[in-house]
Amino acid sequence: MTDTQALVKTLDFQLDVQSNNESLLKDATRRARSAYNETIRLAKEGVDWDTIPGRVAADVDLVRNTTQRVVAKALDAMENYYEYDDFGRPSHTKDGTYPLRANYEEGYNLTLTEDGDVAFRISAKPYKHVKGVLCGDSAHYDILKTALTSDDWKIGTAEVLFQNENPELHVTVTNTEQTVRDKLDSRTVIGVDVNEDNVALTALFEDDVEDTLVIDFPEIKFERHRYFTMRKRVQNAGKDSIHATLEGREKRFVRDRLHKVSRYIVEWSRQFDKPCIVFEDLKEMRDSIDYGTRMNRRLHHLPFRTLQYYTSYKASFEGIPTGWIDPYKTSQRCPMCGHAERVNRNKKRFKCRSCGHQDHSDRSASVNIAVKGIMKHQDWNVPGLNSLPQVRKVRRQASGAVDAPTVTHDAMRGHQTDGIVGVSN
Ligand SMILES: [Zn+2]
Repeated sequence: MTDTQALVKTLDFQLDVQSNNESLLKDATRRARSAYNETIRLAKEGVDWDTIPGRVAADVDLVRNTTQRVVAKALDAMENYYEYDDFGRPSHTKDGTYPLRANYEEGYNLTLTEDGDVAFRISAKPYKHVKGVLCGDSAHYDILKTALTSDDWKIGTAEVLFQNENPELHVTVTNTEQTVRDKLDSRTVIGVDVNEDNVALTALFEDDVEDTLVIDFPEIKFERHRYFTMRKRVQNAGKDSIHATLEGREKRFVRDRLHKVSRYIVEWSRQFDKPCIVFEDLKEMRDSIDYGTRMNRRLHHLPFRTLQYYTSYKASFEGIPTGWIDPYKTSQRCPMCGHAERVNRNKKRFKCRSCGHQDHSDRSASVNIAVKGIMKHQDWNVPGLNSLPQVRKVRRQASGAVDAPTVTHDAMRGHQTDGIVGVSN
């Protein structure tokens, strides 16, 4: 149960396709769907499964390896279909498109360009290639570039699919040198609550000891608001090129800060025994109602997923696993008595109407996230929380290194630790 796992990441990109060749890709994903449907049809007809790949391949005009992968997927689905004995279910063939699965250097290829982009080449048909450049989140881009240039990484299978009519490429990469500890083999769970101007961390151990840290970064909020105002102004003046420049500058600033904050979260986490870092899964949240205005505000005001992603991949480079929990009521539940209700929160203060417990509200949320993480990912019980430690606050400074008492710097992989100022609360 406690095997380490190779570090595997799925990286998502949008495809900027050259010379209107998008329709070729669309057509290929439709043919993948036919291959899938045809496989299901033949299997239901009772033909020998071993003969299916050959029969399907003759019809669909896809790269051989791609056809094989689609057929294998369909047969997997058939196997489950029989296993569950669910014959009353309608046929699971569908219309539309199906992800085009391709092996690296067979069905698709990637290369670094002189501009620092990554160019792709996808075989939509045998000898018929679609070319262009990948676009996407910088965290995904960074890892892919590393994977393309380092022997420690292996680039694996990719899927081409259409998301809201836009073509995407999802690439699997594996770091063969790095393993990540199994989540179950943890002794400390760290809840991370990400906000517009801070991130709150709480570490819960198996045996009731815990620590809390709030990292303030008001300058991110400040700069984002400042850039927002500036962009509005140039936009109104019709100066689009300046608008784009400002956007780029803001992005770089925010990205740089988020990298630093995420680095610090991982450093802080490393001091604990067998840590597992737990985040709120915001994907779950978007689909649900009733998460309240605080959540909505948070969603729109900070690149949460970027910070979570940066932290998660930096953690995995240290062998530290990450877990994801449903954020439902994490900011309303009282960490002491478990009572949960929508409270009218006075900024950063949490007050429980049942037991009277008062606390820094983001710290409360981080405790709840850690508690949920233990319930979801660990086989030990949630420690009884009779009292919570003082909230310690740190704030990053623009420059200069200052005292950082609980952080070990020595083993950081090639990263300089920058200024962290201890501020007591
Ligand atoms: Zn309470």
